[in-house]
Amino acid sequence: RDTVSPEADLDERAIEGALRPKRLADFVGQERVREQLSLVLRGAQRRGRAPDHVLMSGGPGLGKTTLAMIIAAELGAPLRITSGPAIERSGDLAAVLSTLHEGEVLFLDEIHRMARPAEEMLYVAMEDFRVDVMVGKGPGATAIPLDIAPFTLVGATTRAGLLPAPLRDRFGFTAHMDFYDPADLELILHRSAGLLQVELAADAAAEIAGRSRGTPRIANRLLRRVRDYAEVHGDGRLTRDTARAALALYEVDAHGLDRLDRAVLDALLTKFRGGPVGLSTLAVAVGEEPETVEVVAEPFLVRSGFIARTPRGRVATPRAWEHMGIAPPPDAAF
Ligand code: ADP
Repeated sequence: RDTVSPEADLDERAIEGALRPKRLADFVGQERVREQLSLVLRGAQRRGRAPDHVLMSGGPGLGKTTLAMIIAAELGAPLRITSGPAIERSGDLAAVLSTLHEGEVLFLDEIHRMARPAEEMLYVAMEDFRVDVMVGKGPGATAIPLDIAPFTLVGATTRAGLLPAPLRDRFGFTAHMDFYDPADLELILHRSAGLLQVELAADAAAEIAGRSRGTPRIANRLLRRVRDYAEVHGDGRLTRDTARAALALYEVDAHGLDRLDRAVLDALLTKFRGGPVGLSTLAVAVGEEPETVEVVAEPFLVRSGFIARTPRGRVATPRAWEHMGIAPPPDAAF
């Protein structure tokens, strides 16, 4: 796995647990989401009822799981975690829903990947706190309604646009998670350095933050790589020089672009003369699924001004040519 891939592998999941903020007050950045969520939670607590269902949309590593855990912690409620791909049949969902405790928070990650037949069941559960359990098969099959405990669904998706409207409409509150500012990432890095008990100089934090693709998961990961480097090659303190040397070693460039980002830019520039080119054509050229390019690479490339989306397809900006050190053809499309 690439050093700057925003997705986490299993080992990393374990380390992340230790770095996760536990309360809303410790959650850095995303001011608006934090404020809105705080109101939703306080309102529900005043009424003594489970809060509205919450949908969180945003790329990997931006803090969706962390916020789900915080919601449960702030409510003093138990948390159940499952994910869309784990729900292959409506029976899988029925098994989860029918064993929820009153007020429990159900975190359903990658909700857009849940099996279609389960969606219908989820609608009813979200609205009426009921599941219809099918008994028998064929013409004699009957649905037996079963009341379930009132719960709060926290759904997470990297692509809110993929959710069917009836599902989206059943969430009382949608939180859009955006990339983090470098200043917020620096705060996160200092907090993590404290938890990991490493000495992190301010300019080292700035150096790492600038290469973290606006993503806390990547910031924390780069911090650990720089720590490794500082322990082996230095006295363990994280200075700007150790940060630079370590990041160069791990091939994290000055903008934090990783291999996939660079492959996408390279294909766009060299195979399609800077575009415009359609997303799926571009994905084929780099040997990736269109969804990977669209969810993992493109948002950050667009946000940092390397790629523009136009009605005719993706186009490289002058900044992309410059960053990749390739001269644009005279008829480049920008
Ligand atoms: P997602 O579920 O969106 O993929 P996670 O919630 O698992 O992302 O976050 C990835 C890592 O980044 C976690 O270790 C978490 O501690 C850290 N993190 C994410 N958001 C924040 C934040 N706002 N403040 C501090 N740390 C954060």
